Amino acid sequence: MQLKQQNCMSDCRYYCMIRREEERQLGGLSPVKYHGKWPFKRVSVFQACFGLLPRRPQTKRTYYEYTGLWHIYAILSLNAWFWSTIFHTRDIDLTEKLDYSSAVAQLGYSLILTLLRTFNVKDEAGRVMFAAPILAFVTTHILYLNFYELDYGWNMKVCVAMGLVHIAAWAVWSVVTHHPSRYKVWIVVFGGALAMLLEVYDSPPYKGYADAHSLWHASTIPLTYLWWTFVRDDAEFRTSTLVKKAK
Ligand SMILES: [Zn+2]
Repeated sequence: MQLKQQNCMSDCRYYCMIRREEERQLGGLSPVKYHGKWPFKRVSVFQACFGLLPRRPQTKRTYYEYTGLWHIYAILSLNAWFWSTIFHTRDIDLTEKLDYSSAVAQLGYSLILTLLRTFNVKDEAGRVMFAAPILAFVTTHILYLNFYELDYGWNMKVCVAMGLVHIAAWAVWSVVTHHPSRYKVWIVVFGGALAMLLEVYDSPPYKGYADAHSLWHASTIPLTYLWWTFVRDDAEFRTSTLVKKAK
């Protein structure tokens, strides 16, 4: 309420306007402007964006506050790995752009999710505040790569910067928290940092077969597996904490 700058005065005006419009509608009159604006119904950003998507019925909702966010993360990850497979099989201009764009989208989104989870942001307004600037930056960067210049050096800097924030957030969180699966986060943070070094210190292919980038791709297989087991643990842990609190 405070964040959206609503107070008693604006609330009164709003409900008065809605009632008045209902009356006008019943009387067959067309809408009029109020304080210079057409009568809009109040909808939050998320309602406006996701109102059209099918919603999970109330009885099937999870207690875990990050279910929806992890689902989007899964879809973006599948998309990134799909285009990366295509690109490494058929290296043309289009597949290259799709691979880079999907990878940046995945990395940018996982940064948002990381910050929301490590800072325990559960309310909508807080989530929007974290997500909006990152979303704006990542979108601009993807447009830059596709329509201005596919600058490998610059893209590497952007990705490493996002990766470092990502790793730092989880590293601090896993030290501070008493989460039962924090050791999994330690391993993924350590492994992720090593994997990032592979990407940064690019090496020519060993005997013409395996270069640093291919080793990086290989290292993501066990790390991803471990990561998703952590997500499962987190869902179970958060749910049991909430259920205990409710009792
Ligand atoms: Zn690749």
